Amino acid sequence: MSPAASSGAAVARELAGLLGSGAVLAGDADPRYLADATEGRGLRGRADAVALPADAGEVAAVVAWCCAHGVPVVPRGGGTGYAGGAVPDGGVVLSLERLTGVRSFDAARWRMEVEAGLTTAHVRRLARESGLWFPPDPGAAESSQIGGNVATNAGGPHAFKYGATGAWVTGIEAVVPPGELVRVGGPLRKDVAGYDLLRLLVGSEGTLGVITAAWLRLIPAPEAAYPVAAVYADVAAGCAAVGAAMASGIVPAAIEYLDAGALRAAGGSFPAALPRAAAMLVIVEADGSREEATRGRAELLEALAPAALATHAPSEPAEREALWRWRDGVSHAVTAQRGGKLSEDVVVPLDRLGEAIGAVVEIGARHRLEACSWGHAGDGNLHATFLLDPHAAAERERAAAAAEDLFALAATLGGSISGEHGVGLVKRGQLARQWSPRALELHAGVKRLFDPEGVMNPGKKVGRPAGAGDT
Ligand SMILES: Cc1cc2nc3c(=O)[nH]c(=O)nc-3n(C[C@H](O)[C@H](O)[C@H](O)COP(=O)(O)OP(=O)(O)OC[C@H]3O[C@@H](n4cnc5c(N)ncnc54)[C@H](O)[C@@H]3O)c2cc1C
Repeated sequence: MSPAASSGAAVARELAGLLGSGAVLAGDADPRYLADATEGRGLRGRADAVALPADAGEVAAVVAWCCAHGVPVVPRGGGTGYAGGAVPDGGVVLSLERLTGVRSFDAARWRMEVEAGLTTAHVRRLARESGLWFPPDPGAAESSQIGGNVATNAGGPHAFKYGATGAWVTGIEAVVPPGELVRVGGPLRKDVAGYDLLRLLVGSEGTLGVITAAWLRLIPAPEAAYPVAAVYADVAAGCAAVGAAMASGIVPAAIEYLDAGALRAAGGSFPAALPRAAAMLVIVEADGSREEATRGRAELLEALAPAALATHAPSEPAEREALWRWRDGVSHAVTAQRGGKLSEDVVVPLDRLGEAIGAVVEIGARHRLEACSWGHAGDGNLHATFLLDPHAAAERERAAAAAEDLFALAATLGGSISGEHGVGLVKRGQLARQWSPRALELHAGVKRLFDPEGVMNPGKKVGRPAGAGDT
């Protein structure tokens, strides 16, 4: 870094020269840019400056300046990430919030090209207005951005049938070091010409480049979607119900679950009566044409009801929406129990789901923390959660130790440390649990190829464990 740019004020001043003073904030001017959804576990960073570029050209100018001066760049979307990926440790926070253009929307060909800063909910609404659907539905859709969704390859309940965000991206425009705008893919449904650079950028968590726009694939919206909720007396019965739903002959659009602890936290506002003995809730949805969804719902009820304590199969649109709205609020309801939580999105092979649900509670007990889980049962994806008081350092430490046990559990069960939230800051250094040394070497090589100076979101995804310094 040049001497002229060696302080936060100097960084902000030089960037203001590129973008205009209204588009650059001092690093400590607005605390919202220093945290993400991991704040509830005490994570907060610091920055030299916050850059708010207006277009891809300005993004390229910021990245070029940072590369030339060895200053870290931390891309920031909606700040809803659960891995601390957007939390800076010095350098420039590059917020995409002003890149909200819809560059093209071709409803007849089921595609759109949007800038990275458009919120997920905005994209979904735009598609809906033309009878189309963008299936990825991560839970913070009103705040998360498409760029952040692509950068984390975000999932959501409907990823079970429709796949995560990456499955709906056919092209990416990104700024990569040393500040060049590149396009991979585009409005193409197929492209096998080169190595799959597009898939490398999907899920790269801001460590390879800054995504400035994406071409998205859409589909006609299903005419109807009917959820069926069923509660069970224990985890074994609940997991058997997941299996029964998959054997029912239909492809469910979503298969979700809540364990007993999550039900204790969120059950009070469940939009139907819940039996006192409820220890696991399963929500499965049938979608398609009205006839298909109706038939699917009947088949799901037939599969889920026999072992259930109770079922809830709403048919009115308002009731169906109430059920999914309730499901979206589970994370907040769990947080509200103690004011904070440490939640990790481990994923295990489906046949190990029941074991994993039980083990989360055991790990919590070992570390003297209340624990629960919920998540995307059909994908074997748990939001394994330890409740804590965010102001109690000892609890935060115990929760961090519990998370280590959780990652070890995921690896032992043949799973992964992250099913959808990514590695970011909080899980860095954990990849060695599940990958061979050669696979890790290839990983580090990809990072070096894109970002030889290590400027892009350093210490995230491919770093050593938090506190051990960066690679
Ligand atoms: C209540 C709640 C529910 C959630 N439910 C789900 C869920 O169901 N499924 C799921 O997968 N996630 C879920 N999440 C997590 C989060 O919403 C997703 O990870 C989301 O994709 C993050 O998007 P963002 O725009 O907020 O990104 P940020 O949090 O701002 O950033 C996330 C990462 O992406 C990078 N990044 C952001 N934008 C760009 C860009 N344009 N170019 C390059 N890198 C970029 C950042 O550097 C960071 O590493 C939930 C979060 C909350 C708070």
